[in-house]
Amino acid sequence: MADSYNGVPIPRDGARIAYKEDRCQVPPNPIIPYIEGDGTGRDIWKAAVRVFDAAVERAYRGERRVVWYEIFAGEKAKAKFNDWLPQDSVEAIRDFRVAIKGPLTTPVGGGIRSLNVTLRQVLDLYACVRPVKYYKGTPSPVRHPERMDVVIFRENTEDVYAGIEWEQGSKEASKLIDFINREMLKGGKKQVRADSGVGIKPISVFATKRLARMAIRHALENRRKTVTLVHKGNIQKFTEGAFRKWGYELASEEFRNQIVTERESWILDNKDKNPNLSSEDNGALIEPGLEYAPEEFRSSVYQEVRSVLESIYRSHGHGEWKNKLMVNDRIADSIFQQVVTRPDEYAVLATPNLNGDYISDACAAQVGGLGIAPGANIGDGYAVFEATHGTAPKYADRDVINPGSVMLSGVMMFRYLGWGEVADLIENGLERTIEQKTVTYDFHRLMEGATKVTTSQFANHIIHNMGARVLVNA
Ligand code: NAP
Repeated sequence: MADSYNGVPIPRDGARIAYKEDRCQVPPNPIIPYIEGDGTGRDIWKAAVRVFDAAVERAYRGERRVVWYEIFAGEKAKAKFNDWLPQDSVEAIRDFRVAIKGPLTTPVGGGIRSLNVTLRQVLDLYACVRPVKYYKGTPSPVRHPERMDVVIFRENTEDVYAGIEWEQGSKEASKLIDFINREMLKGGKKQVRADSGVGIKPISVFATKRLARMAIRHALENRRKTVTLVHKGNIQKFTEGAFRKWGYELASEEFRNQIVTERESWILDNKDKNPNLSSEDNGALIEPGLEYAPEEFRSSVYQEVRSVLESIYRSHGHGEWKNKLMVNDRIADSIFQQVVTRPDEYAVLATPNLNGDYISDACAAQVGGLGIAPGANIGDGYAVFEATHGTAPKYADRDVINPGSVMLSGVMMFRYLGWGEVADLIENGLERTIEQKTVTYDFHRLMEGATKVTTSQFANHIIHNMGARVLVNA
């Protein structure tokens, strides 16, 4: 490993985070690389790092502390090294394993390596994780925003985001369309129109299962009640439908004793309520209208009932299933309604890439929007935490923007490191400050009787509200 990155020596007073047996091993003085970010990134990072340090100090009284290590990307890297994304910055994140970043300018016109895409590939950060919960006092467009408390695990490496697509009119598009029409759809009624652009949507067993595994582990470790597989499998059977199927497979292959699927819970519940129920009658209860279905389908349902009862009634029956993590699934369009009408029925959502992109923003909009929406890209042993919004350049260096998003990304980071006390302090300080109606401009314009403060004053209030010393006054 290098002793400096981008010519900046590694701090001598910190130690590296290690990773063994699926767990991060965090020293009391971990070196954590950070990228300040462009535009308002500068404002929010300055405010956030004071809050982080104050919370760590308050929680551990000097026994633990983060040794921050600046690395460069975006405008600052371009100015210093004439490189938007120096290789050293990527390597520092790989070597130190955990990093936090502000938003970066994406120069218009392309041709620039994107940090997020590069890191996703180099470190295989296969899950985009977005917790969405309500902090009291936050302005919201819904009547009961407090009912929302979900964590979304969005698959990060495939689906229509794989970037495998060809422009309408290109040689490649014509070649592919020709092949599909002549070879794959030959003799059928379907044909792809010759003037189409085409894209490929790969969804693999491997990527689906590791994403489902991470979501289920998170739910178990945090005692959440459900994991919901979100998909559009009624239409896209072999991609989205397969995501659902492989998600369930993974759940029962690897977590059999700790989980129950929703369908299994119906079968077990029917049996609990009526121990003498036949498999046929049990099947009829879980599949209304079964008596009119083709013989083959009916037999498959009866077989399913028998197999569930034989394999898990002993461990999951007599109400035991109620203590297990429920794994269910919802079709994407219905989950969009449900997160508005009954958000409290959901805790962890596992989704393919595109659905996850949409549903994260739809959920975040209910509880305060971009200004306080945190996120992380996580792989096995690597994690990069980041504000989910952009650089909001018109507010840059004006000390007005809401730093909540990067602060809550820090909350995620501290939980990931196992420093839950720090995360709690930051969350409580933030919530109390919003409850006191002391807020930045974005919340101020949506709240009555609120006091508008600057980014740095907002940080001071949070620090004060967590009971720590405010070290730098705005
Ligand atoms: P944006 O920077 O997210 O800002 C759009 C609007 O969202 C702002 O004008 C502001 O709305 C609101 N907003 C964003 N962050 C806020 C915060 N912390 N507090 C309060 N309000 C906030 O989106 P953009 O203007 O489309 O993108 C600007 C640049 O950021 C582009 O170069 C883009 O490529 C880049 N970008 C980077 C990332 C990343 O690095 N992860 C992500 C997205 C975009 P009001 O004007 O209504 O106050």
